[in-house]
Parts: sequence; C-alpha cells; structure tokens
Amino acid sequence: MIDCAELKKSGFIPQRQNGYFCLRVKITGGYVVSQNLAALSEVARIYGNGEVHLTSRQNIEIPFIALVNIENVREMLTKAGLSPITLGPSLRNITACQGTATCKNGLIDTQQLAKYLSENLTERNVLPYKFRIGLTGCHNNCLKIEKNDLGLKGGFIPEHRHEHCINCGICQRGCPTRAIIPGSPSLTIDSSKCVNCGSCLNHCPNECWAGQLGTVIFFGGRFDNQVQTSHNCFPIITEDKKLLIAINRCLDFYQKFGYKGERFNQTVTRLSWAKFDQFILEA
Ligand code: SF4
Ligand code: SF4
Ligand code: SF4
Repeated sequence: MIDCAELKKSGFIPQRQNGYFCLRVKITGGYVVSQNLAALSEVARIYGNGEVHLTSRQNIEIPFIALVNIENVREMLTKAGLSPITLGPSLRNITACQGTATCKNGLIDTQQLAKYLSENLTERNVLPYKFRIGLTGCHNNCLKIEKNDLGLKGGFIPEHRHEHCINCGICQRGCPTRAIIPGSPSLTIDSSKCVNCGSCLNHCPNECWAGQLGTVIFFGGRFDNQVQTSHNCFPIITEDKKLLIAINRCLDFYQKFGYKGERFNQTVTRLSWAKFDQFILEA
C-alpha cells in the first residue's frame, strides 16, 4: 500500500496523472550552484520527463517521477547535497531576493541571512500549520514580504555627515516621506517621519551618510485563499542576535497558542496583537 501522505510530506507530491509524483527540491533563497543545477537536470532527464518547474517559493520541482524510481532519485539528491522540501505543518523554504550579494540597492545580505535562518530554525518542524518566511533587501520590496507569515526587510537608520555635503538636494528629492529637511549649516532628519528606506544612503553622490544598517520585521501576512497584509510592530533591529530572538519568539508564540490547522495570522488575530507584542517584548 502506498502512503501518499508520507511521500507528500517528504517532498514527492502526487500528480493528477496516476503513479507519478512531482519532486519539490528545497532551494534556500532562490540560489543554486551550477553543479546542483546539473544534478537536477540529470534527475529530470533520467527519471522525469526532462522538464523542471520553478515554484512561486523559489523551489525547483521535477515532475513525472514514477513511484518505482523514488528511491533512486533520493540517492541522486543526497549525493548532490540537495534535499526535498518538507511539506505539512512546518517552516517552509525561506525565500529571499538577491540583497547585497549582487543588488546595488541592497541594505542587508539576504542570502546569508536566509541560509543562517534555514540552518538555525530547522527544529521548527511541528507547527500548527505551514509558516512562511521571506527576506527582501530594501524598501523596493522585490520579494513582497508582506505576504509572508514573517517578513524581513533591509533598512537603514540615517546619520548625516555634514562635512562632506555639497547641498545638491538629491537625498531630499528621493526621500519618500520628506523626512530630510534642508537647512543651514546643514540638513536635518525628522526621525518621526523616517521609514528607514536607505534611499539617502544609496543615492548620495558624496558618501555623506553614515548610520546603521538593520532589519525591519513584519508579522502575520498571508496570500492564499485569504489575503492579509502583515504588521510592522517593532522598530528596526540592528543586531543579528536580537533578530534571531524575535523570530524564535514569534515561532514559540505560534507553536504554543496556535490551534492545529490555524494560520499564524488567525492565531494572533484571535488572541490580539497586544498579547503578541507583549510576548515578543518579554524576550
Ligand atoms: S528588494 Fe532591493 S535589494 Fe532586493 S532585489 Fe529588490 S532592489 Fe535589490
Ligand atoms: S532612510 Fe529613507 S526615509 Fe529615512 S531619511 Fe533616508 S531617505 Fe528619508
Ligand atoms: S545627496 Fe548627499 S551631498 Fe546631496 S544634499 Fe544629500 S547629503 Fe548632501
């Protein structure tokens, strides 16, 4: 008797065509080295129908794996250092944009952070339901993190270095919230208006901006049969250690209070955002 539910949990998803499975391979942050691409191509050529599909969460799916070939495919993946994704009530593949790895707008190293979180949150495999994390390197928000249960966005706490400023006005025109106020002898920042977008840092021709890079956390988004935009409840975080504490605490909350089958947003809405904020701040 074939246990399709178990196969699905381990990344082999039954297709509508009887006897065939789509293998979903975990690709953290959407980056895959060329040797692994070659290995995946081999799996698709030998055991699939020669095609792969890129999923909406940056994984690679290989369709038309016959049941009889699943063990051989598992072996090929292990040799290549790849693994199928875990489905079911668990932390799903962490998605990320390019960030500072290659993008000149990037404020944080989303790729390194995705790998770090993927390695450090692995024990989170018994949650009430699926939980998605997405990382985006700056306010351009290419990854649209508000649709994730937990989203991380690169940010910047600006500090102006007057001595280099030539008063060109580029930073003021580019500031989305008009937080930069022109003045003599130098401009000032209205921190109540600043949204930490980093545009001033990225566009100044004279490197006049010092300050701190950091990460802004958004909680409770989802984008499936219901759509909810996530909340940003806390100021920008500048230490990785604190960031990890906040993420772990969020997962603790979900694990502790979530009902089976309930999405994170539903758990927090049922118990109140105030309770959630308090729970995070206690850490
Ligand atoms: S979100 Fe920012 S850092 Fe990431 S790819 Fe887009 S522009 Fe680059
Ligand atoms: S970080 Fe963004 S919002 Fe803040 S002052 Fe610079 S440009 Fe304006
Ligand atoms: S962009 Fe740089 S040089 Fe130009 S006004 Fe702003 S801080 Fe000064």
